[in-house]
Amino acid sequence: MREEFDVENLWKDSDAEAMVAAYAEKGINRDLALRTYTTRLLGGEPRLVLHGGGNTSVKTTVKDLVGDEWDVLCVKGSGWDMGIIEPAGLPAVKIDALLKARKLDKLSDEDMVTLQRANLIDPASPNPSVEALLHAFLPHKFVDHTHSTAILAIADQAESRAMSEDLFGKKMGFVPYIMPGFALAKAAAEVYDQDPTVEGLILDKHGIFTFGATAREAYDRMIHYVTVAKDYVRANGKNPFTPVTLPANLAKPNDIAPMLRGAVAVSKGEGRYDRMVSEFRTSPDILAFVNAAEVEDMARRGVSTPDLSIRIKTGPMVLPAPDAGNLADYKKAIAERTAGFIEDYTNYFKANDGRGGVKKIMLDPMPRLTLVPGLGLFGHGRTLKDARIAADVAETWIETARDAESVGTFEPVSKPDLFELEYWSLEQAKLAGAKPKPFTGQVAVVTGGAGAIGAAIARAFAREGAHVVVLDLDGAKAAESAKAAGNQSIGVGCDVTDPASVRAAFDKAVETYGGVDIVVSNAGAAWESPIATMDDALLRKSFELNFFSHQTVAQNAVRIMKEQGTGGVLLFNASKQAVNPGAKFGAYGLPKAATLFLSRQYALEHGADHIRVNAVNADRIRSGLLNEEMIANRAAARGLSVKDYMGGNLLGLEVTADDVAQAFVHHALAERTTADVTTVDGGNIAAAMR
Ligand code: ZN
Repeated sequence: MREEFDVENLWKDSDAEAMVAAYAEKGINRDLALRTYTTRLLGGEPRLVLHGGGNTSVKTTVKDLVGDEWDVLCVKGSGWDMGIIEPAGLPAVKIDALLKARKLDKLSDEDMVTLQRANLIDPASPNPSVEALLHAFLPHKFVDHTHSTAILAIADQAESRAMSEDLFGKKMGFVPYIMPGFALAKAAAEVYDQDPTVEGLILDKHGIFTFGATAREAYDRMIHYVTVAKDYVRANGKNPFTPVTLPANLAKPNDIAPMLRGAVAVSKGEGRYDRMVSEFRTSPDILAFVNAAEVEDMARRGVSTPDLSIRIKTGPMVLPAPDAGNLADYKKAIAERTAGFIEDYTNYFKANDGRGGVKKIMLDPMPRLTLVPGLGLFGHGRTLKDARIAADVAETWIETARDAESVGTFEPVSKPDLFELEYWSLEQAKLAGAKPKPFTGQVAVVTGGAGAIGAAIARAFAREGAHVVVLDLDGAKAAESAKAAGNQSIGVGCDVTDPASVRAAFDKAVETYGGVDIVVSNAGAAWESPIATMDDALLRKSFELNFFSHQTVAQNAVRIMKEQGTGGVLLFNASKQAVNPGAKFGAYGLPKAATLFLSRQYALEHGADHIRVNAVNADRIRSGLLNEEMIANRAAARGLSVKDYMGGNLLGLEVTADDVAQAFVHHALAERTTADVTTVDGGNIAAAMR
């Protein structure tokens, strides 16, 4: 059974008028308010508009700062999400200048951008859409454009023109494939001029335009033609796929996610990587597609609309179905398929580079989408946001490819045309922006992550680009700490002294991001007691938390890091007690000394895996372990003020949780440092490492 979706007409007079009234108070005219309203309706429906794949416009008038009135095209600006657009996201461009451009024979992309920017009413506006000229050349007041999946099932046919004409008759014009820009705008306008009675245009291998005298007319037409296409597929579609036989004992997504994540990391040489995170998705629709014998053939045919290439490149990588009983061989299969994808991508680049006399620099050749028969799909990206976009795009691609194949032959845009778009500067500009940070693409687990030091560590790693998995005994506080850290970090309740709980927490990290790169084993607690009369149970309890939990955490970290094969960083919060015992602190110092040794044992045994292992030796930090009451007592016992006690070090300055966090970040950044201990105590010669 396949799920069926209709794209509903969501227009409501009351909503439209409410928006007009609300924007009137802000000085926005009725045209632009209604344009904002239906743009949001279109943008809120992923089967019409997904992550930048669409745009809208209205022709209206605006006054400039000196009171002159201009005829303008308000057209979607780049960088705005149609689903939540504001009038500011539809910058006004003086339309006369745009219309004059139609007389030109040629207009380069750079000149087109210059022309558009030069005619903005507000020079601070975002760049008007790359399809702005197409909007300008059509005479209608409202113009809507989407990359509807239902329309693409028709436009991505081997016989797309014939099918489109059969289906829509004379109501829709048909524009052969041309890359967006000036040439497409001119070609579309010519098709329109040949028959000005059309209500819209089908753009081959690309999408649909509809237009009208009112916002409602253009929107109604969009929904109408999308529904006509969907109804046609529903009435005529035959299941084009043959299901394959899957292994009886299928592996779970978590069993293969770290291997896959390691395989698609971009190697920079010498043990350095640009890592990606993965988003796993599955559903009956996804499974019906990935379990088909035809899946590799479909994957090779390419993406359903060319601008998807900036999200999932030339299309997905397809893996074999994973057998839980043979994961070692599966790792090899992943490596082989990834190598095959890289080779294909490199050949695609070489075959198409230099078109138009311009040489490009090849983007990284790694897949952004992996299909796994029996399980589902993984989207990959340098951030969780990008990985989720890749997965969203994958779901609509699957729907389009399946529907197109069910009524004919899925034949999307050709590889040379795809190349032209993927390597188009105006498309790549959509991806530019945030420069990667040192830990972009990396996943950091922090135990004891809700405490003062743990929260500071989580914040510090998130600030440097990592997605952080904050573990704490208190799940709610872990979630709070993760939220405060930001960068789509998550909090997980975890008792680090319970191996099953630790395993579950690491499983959650893999489930959410695909793997783990950095682990800060930080959780700990101190109990005071004289050594000679110490209760044995107390010492054993302390060993459980201050030693064995570190071992359990480290074992899980190494297990995942070895599956990834891209190295990793394992960091321990040792304590000054590990090297410089304090009176009555034996129950704390003994296991901490063992943990310091543990860090060296791991450094020794896993250096060859490029797993770096270091410890931070901190002292006298305000935290749950050294709370205000303890500080007051200890200061009083030494006859010092709290300030003098906290600053009782060579620097004479208090050391904070943020200072400790900075040391962990330093360890994670120092790419050739392992088996190191960094002291963060403001200077204490008695406790100095020797
Ligand atoms: Zn488009």
